[in-house]
Amino acid sequence: MLLGKHINKYYLKYLWLYLIGIVGLIAVDWFQLLIPEYLGRIVDLFNGSEIDTAVLSEIVTGVVVVAFVLFLGRVAWRFSIFAASQKTEAGLRKTMFAKSERLPLSYYGKTKVGTVMAWFTTDLETIEEYLGWGTIMLFDAGFLTVLVIIKMINLDWVLSLVVFVPLVLIVIWGALVEKFQAKKWNERQEEFDKLYDYSRESFTGIRVIKAFICETRRLHECAKIVRKNKDANLSYARMTVVFDCIISFIIALITAIILGIGGYFVYYTVIGEPVVLFSHSVNMSAGGLITFLGYFETMIWPMMALGQIVSMRSRAKASLKRVSRFLDCEEVISPTNVLKDVKGKVEFKNFTFTYPDCETPALSDITLTIDAGQTVGVVGKVGSGKSTLVNSLLKLYPTNSDSVFIDGTDITACDTDSVRRAVSCAPQDSFLFSETLSGNIGFARDDCPQEAIEQAADFACLSGDISGFEGGYETVCGERGVTLSGGQKQRVAIARAYLCNAPILILDDSVSAVDIKTEETILANIASKRKGKTTIVVASRVSTVSRFDKIIVMNDGKVEAFASPSELMIVSPTYQKMVRLQALENEIKEANNAR
Ligand code: ADP
Ligand code: MG
Repeated sequence: MLLGKHINKYYLKYLWLYLIGIVGLIAVDWFQLLIPEYLGRIVDLFNGSEIDTAVLSEIVTGVVVVAFVLFLGRVAWRFSIFAASQKTEAGLRKTMFAKSERLPLSYYGKTKVGTVMAWFTTDLETIEEYLGWGTIMLFDAGFLTVLVIIKMINLDWVLSLVVFVPLVLIVIWGALVEKFQAKKWNERQEEFDKLYDYSRESFTGIRVIKAFICETRRLHECAKIVRKNKDANLSYARMTVVFDCIISFIIALITAIILGIGGYFVYYTVIGEPVVLFSHSVNMSAGGLITFLGYFETMIWPMMALGQIVSMRSRAKASLKRVSRFLDCEEVISPTNVLKDVKGKVEFKNFTFTYPDCETPALSDITLTIDAGQTVGVVGKVGSGKSTLVNSLLKLYPTNSDSVFIDGTDITACDTDSVRRAVSCAPQDSFLFSETLSGNIGFARDDCPQEAIEQAADFACLSGDISGFEGGYETVCGERGVTLSGGQKQRVAIARAYLCNAPILILDDSVSAVDIKTEETILANIASKRKGKTTIVVASRVSTVSRFDKIIVMNDGKVEAFASPSELMIVSPTYQKMVRLQALENEIKEANNAR
């Protein structure tokens, strides 16, 4: 059995299935041992004298009954034990998925997706395999071994002794090999994780690979990883094959020993001078030898199984350890204080933030207040901390207490979900799911009415594009939205965020890939439809934010200035520079158009 705090409850939950399976297994074991006895009796029946037809029909009827019981027993154990193991795997997978959603973002910064995927696939399958086949082997092998040993000793204990010694050696050999197999299994798993990561990244980044004509280089890199993966697999397979072949060889040797010694005993029994060993005269008929061989053949599977169980168990143990480590990862416990009736006032007080595992702070000493209902722009160079500043309102990373406030309440003291309900964000990376446009826009709301989806699309200036698509709102976006242009993806993300109708809306660089005219419409929509609600727009063009109430100018993780656009022209050198550059850009564009 595989024990652990995350798995024990499933044994109890599916105990009835395991019990049905175990009863089925025991019935099969008991009845299948009748077959060698029937074989032996048949052989002894044909001893040159007249055949007793009554005994013959009794044997034939017996075999038919045994076959029927074996059929019923096998159906019972296969259905019930595999059902229990599959249900346990499904339960664990659900628990793991729920856990994956509760883990903080910083966890995924440290852990590769391939590794997490391997826990969800290979490791869970290994655990399921052991719970299914492992349980079967354990009970089947255990019960069958005891039963066969008793029957063999009853038949002839001297011949049994000859057989038991090598059989015990097989089990010891299996236990020794298991140690090496577990190590090889782990190496195989690590190589698989690397291959998975590499393949996933290659498929996701296929556009970049093609654009930079890096196919050949990536192919060579992939070949190296594939070779290592193949070597690890081969090494594991080689060890398993050697182990199996050695066992098969030993089994053939034991069969030869039984035939040799047993034949010798039968011969002397038939001529009426039974062999005497340890003051015991060995009386064995030809049928008795056939029965003994039958018992021995029945013993082979439990012996092989005992060897396999040990290695299967150690693999499953290693997998359960990885799964348990994942399930035991520390979660951020959300406070119970719910943020309610949010008006939309945002305050930062001496807010300094450093990303996990980084040394230099991404934001230093930010102090500013955005009043409820204001529309505020955020500008600054790339890497100046714009996204970090706005994302800090979403509680994605742990922050210092008493530094970020919504409506005067410290968000670190508030329930995370309630904070996220108050702040809706269209992130800089407009990630789309491979489902319909409707599904992507209405993602945040269960059973979102079509009317609301269409209003959100209107807000993001996306309706025109959608009516041009053959499937309209039911157009499937393709994996990560590959079938849409950059600007369309951004606008789907804007619509998705707007649909939440949150008191605070953040658009992080969401109009950088849309044309000026569309941007103008979206800005007009913000002015009319977000009236009275707080909207924060991170922008790379000053023109985007020049009509907003206030603008935050970020510079190297600090707030250089926070004022109205006209005031910024006086107090912020970065803003002045951005305005001059923008004017220059416009002039060049106009000149080009005039040509
Ligand atoms: P902006 O949005 O202004 O371009 P960001 O807020 O994305 O800038 O980044 C600010 C700084 O924080 C940069 O130096 C960047 O390298 C760093 N940074 C951003 N995201 C992360 C992260 N997830 N982990 C570590 N550092 C990060
Ligand atoms: Mg950014």
